[in-house]
Amino acid sequence: MSLLLRGAITLFLVAGVTAGAGYLARALMYAPEHQALDAGVAARLDGQVQSMLQVQLAAGAVAAVLGLLFFYRSLSSKVSRLTEHVQDLRFDEGSLPDSGVRGKSGVGLLGAEVDQLVHRAEEGIRAREAQLKHLRETEERQEATLRATGDGLWDWNVNGDKVYFCPKLRAMLGEKKKGATLNRTEWIAFIHPEDLEDFTVALKAFVSGETPTLHIEHRLQRKEGDYIWTLCRGSLLRSPTGAVRRVVGIVTDITAQKEREAQLAHEAMHDVLTGLANRAMLVQQLNQALGRAKRKNHKFGLLFMDLDRFKVVNDGLGHMVGDELLKGVAHRIQMSVRSTDTVGRCASTVARLGGDEFVVLLDDIYDVLDAIRVAERVQKNIMEPFSIPGHEVFTSTSIGIAMGDVSTESGDELLRNADTALYRAKAQGRACYAVFDVEMGKRAKKRVRLENDLRRAIEREELALHFQPIIDLKTGRIASFEVLVRWNHPEFGQVPPDEFVVIAEETDTIQQMGRWLLRTAARQTRAWQERFPHARDLDVNVNFSSKEFLHPNAVEAITEDLREAGLAPEHLRIEVTEAVLMKNAKEVLKRLTTFRELGIQMAIDDFGTGASSLTHLTRFPVHMVKIDLSFVREMHASPESLQLVRSIIALSQSLNLKVIAEGVEEEHQLERLKGLGCEMSQGYLFSKPLDVQAATRLLESDPGW
Ligand code: C2E
Ligand code: CA
Ligand code: CA
Repeated sequence: MSLLLRGAITLFLVAGVTAGAGYLARALMYAPEHQALDAGVAARLDGQVQSMLQVQLAAGAVAAVLGLLFFYRSLSSKVSRLTEHVQDLRFDEGSLPDSGVRGKSGVGLLGAEVDQLVHRAEEGIRAREAQLKHLRETEERQEATLRATGDGLWDWNVNGDKVYFCPKLRAMLGEKKKGATLNRTEWIAFIHPEDLEDFTVALKAFVSGETPTLHIEHRLQRKEGDYIWTLCRGSLLRSPTGAVRRVVGIVTDITAQKEREAQLAHEAMHDVLTGLANRAMLVQQLNQALGRAKRKNHKFGLLFMDLDRFKVVNDGLGHMVGDELLKGVAHRIQMSVRSTDTVGRCASTVARLGGDEFVVLLDDIYDVLDAIRVAERVQKNIMEPFSIPGHEVFTSTSIGIAMGDVSTESGDELLRNADTALYRAKAQGRACYAVFDVEMGKRAKKRVRLENDLRRAIEREELALHFQPIIDLKTGRIASFEVLVRWNHPEFGQVPPDEFVVIAEETDTIQQMGRWLLRTAARQTRAWQERFPHARDLDVNVNFSSKEFLHPNAVEAITEDLREAGLAPEHLRIEVTEAVLMKNAKEVLKRLTTFRELGIQMAIDDFGTGASSLTHLTRFPVHMVKIDLSFVREMHASPESLQLVRSIIALSQSLNLKVIAEGVEEEHQLERLKGLGCEMSQGYLFSKPLDVQAATRLLESDPGW
């Protein structure tokens, strides 16, 4: 306490004591025993006491004022020290100093209290700072991670219904790079409407714990209005009680990947050359059409087409021209389908299956007439010349039409049907169309069965050889047997050779079949020659299809088979049809020459049916000509047929060729042929084709006609 204050209090106390003593003296003077004191002393005493009291009062007042002054000064200095101390507090490194305001007084206690408070606050702030630092580091790490991955992030406060978009995510969306907090509506506005439902469902399932992860691909709209594809993976943040507080989504831009996928998907479904749908796409569309047909009971049509003579263009003018033609054709088909009036209630698909094969799927049409109309339009448009740089190319197309409806079992079936109809259309000639019908279907089914079964038919011994005698009309004896193949199918019974030989040719089973047939026929003939002296010079006529005849190994194979069977080549007569000769004249000529050199006899089969004229006979080095049975049959009724037979025989004789007349059934036919100078004959008149046993019996009987 200051000196001044102490002085004032001393003065106040001294004055007080003095005044007290005065009162005491006065009281004593008025006591009864002191009644004797004179009035003069009493008055003096009173006066002294009075003045002492006044002094004391004045001193007390001064002391009070001074005290108050001192008290105020000391209090205010302490308070201002405290205030300054508090104001000067700076939270930097190192701990905060004390205020220094202490003591038992209120302010002293306050000072201690304030210091304590400040230290507690300091501790709190330091802890918070450490937390913040940790948080900042975590955020920095996160940002660095996101930067490295290029991913964005959103943070959805589930309860507050606010979502924070990080700067990277904003940048992805073409916004300025600042982060932003959005509300739910703003957030949803970014999501592509088509993806919204899936996204919402996935998010809900994730938040509710129904699904353990959030992993969803969806589109987000950029500021420019376009969309990017994103992959969103999520993570949940929970409160200590386990309730979901926030969902954080990591957003990866997968647009490039999606575009690649889309590109690949497009390529997988489209033909590269023409841009049309490919087979996979067609099958998909077909199945969809089938589904719709079943639901809505409507019809759809399929046009299966290929170009006539495309190979000629491709081989003759080169693949570049071929490709251009295919592109042009693709375009014209598309135009023909589009410009349609009755069709097109649903989308039609034009596809290229490869090569020159195109398919049009006409969805939701009324009936087959709609499909026919389109087919005719396609054919007409394709007939127009194609201008390909340096060339003007003409082509045409054959079309097979098949209709699909509720009863259609599969797209495959329909494609097969249309293909079958195409096959039929092509058989009718160029630029034709054919509509698939039930009969066609049955035939096609049978054909497929035969194709499959033919391969095993030889091993299963379902194939057999029949032999039809060919008679030398001069001697009336059997000169040769024509070998005719027979197939006894376990289900279909006897299959006519006309039917399965074609299949064998197309499926390349013909080589296997032909080899077996030649070997068996040669052995059998050799066996007969050895067994029957009158048949020592027996020949055998074997039919060769064009593929067998032109097969690169044919010469070696035949030579080997003959040697193995022990049959001299001179006893083999190979029959090839006139059609085979006409098709590959050059190669055929070479082959004929080779066979001739080997000593094998060559015969032109079915002569007169092909497009060749008689003069062609002079070109081929053959030994004999077989007049087709149709002329023999009509000889007596048709003067033209008779004239043809006569000419063939006359010309053959002049060329030193032998003539065999086929299909002789009547005696008068035989007489007529003999009269014309025909050397050999074959037909039911003599014998039907016989199995080995019957042929052997016939040969044994050594018949004469
Ligand atoms: P193709 O070579 O012209 O055979 C003659 C066909 O006429 C045979 O029919 C035969 O049975 C039949 N035929 C014979 N005489 C008469 C007759 O007096 N009247 C009538 N109406 N028909 C008669 P098939 O056996 O049905 O053979 C049909 C065709 O199948 C053959 O015609 C031939 O082109 C082919 N073919 C048969 N076997 C073979 C073979 O082993 N290889 C090859 N590549 N083709 C064969
Ligand atoms: Ca023949
Ligand atoms: Ca014939």
